[in-house]
Amino acid sequence: MSKELKEVQGIIFKRQKFHEADLLAKIITKNSGIITMIARGALKPKSKLGASLLNFSYGTYVIVSSGQGLSNLRTYKNVKQFDGIFNDLTKNAYASFILDLVDHAFVEYQDLGKYYELTSLALTKINDGEDAEMITQTIQMQLLAAYGVEPELRHCVICGKETGDFDYSIVKGGIICSNHLYTDTTRLHLQPKETAVLRTIGLIPFSRLGTIKINQDTKKATRRAIDRIYQETIDLNLKTKKFLDELNLFT
Ligand SMILES: [Zn+2]
Repeated sequence: MSKELKEVQGIIFKRQKFHEADLLAKIITKNSGIITMIARGALKPKSKLGASLLNFSYGTYVIVSSGQGLSNLRTYKNVKQFDGIFNDLTKNAYASFILDLVDHAFVEYQDLGKYYELTSLALTKINDGEDAEMITQTIQMQLLAAYGVEPELRHCVICGKETGDFDYSIVKGGIICSNHLYTDTTRLHLQPKETAVLRTIGLIPFSRLGTIKINQDTKKATRRAIDRIYQETIDLNLKTKKFLDELNLFT
C-alpha cells in the first residue's frame, strides 16, 4: 500500500515507550479515525516530538501513513493541551474512560462520524469544569449506537407509545411503557424520572451536551442503569472504568 504524507487533526490519548527512545501514541482524529503513531527518537532529550505527545494534547500532526498499521509522526503544528484535564485526577479519570470507550467502539482508521466532535466537545467541557459525570453518562448512552446496540429511546419498544411513564428493558433493548412492564420481569425498575433522564441524554443533540441538571440521587440511579446496560450488552471490563469507580467511592 502506498504511503502518503498528510496532516491530521486530533487528540492524543494513550502513549507507550517503544524500543530504546521511540514513543507510540494513539490519536483520535477528526477525519482519519483512531491512529497509532510512532514517534522515532521522541524520548531523546533533544527531540521536539515528545512534548506534542503528552496525554490530552491536541492539534495538527503531520504523519506518513499507509492507512493501516503504524503511522510515522514527522512533525506537528499548533499543539495545545487540555491542562484542566491533565492536572486533575478526577477529570483525567473521566476523560480517559470516555476515550477508552470510543477506542473500543471503532477499529483503527475507521471513520468516527459524529463521534469525533462529540468526544472533542466532551473533553472541552470537562476541561472547563462542567459536570464530568453527566457528560460521561451522555457519551455512554450515545455510544451504544457505535457499538451496534442502539437502544430504542423514542417510544415503547412494544406499542410505540411516546409519552407517559417508562422503565428500561435491557432484554427488549429500550424503554417500555407502563402498559407493557409485564413483558420483561428483568426490567431495571427505574423511577419514571430516571428513565426520562436516560431518554434525554441518549437523544440530546451534542451541542447541548452537559446542559442536563439533575440531583445526586437520580444521577446515581442512571449511573447504575448505564453500568448494567454496558455490562449486559457489551461487557468491556475497562481498567479506566474500574479506576473511575474506585475514585468515585471517595466523593
Ligand atoms: Zn407499550
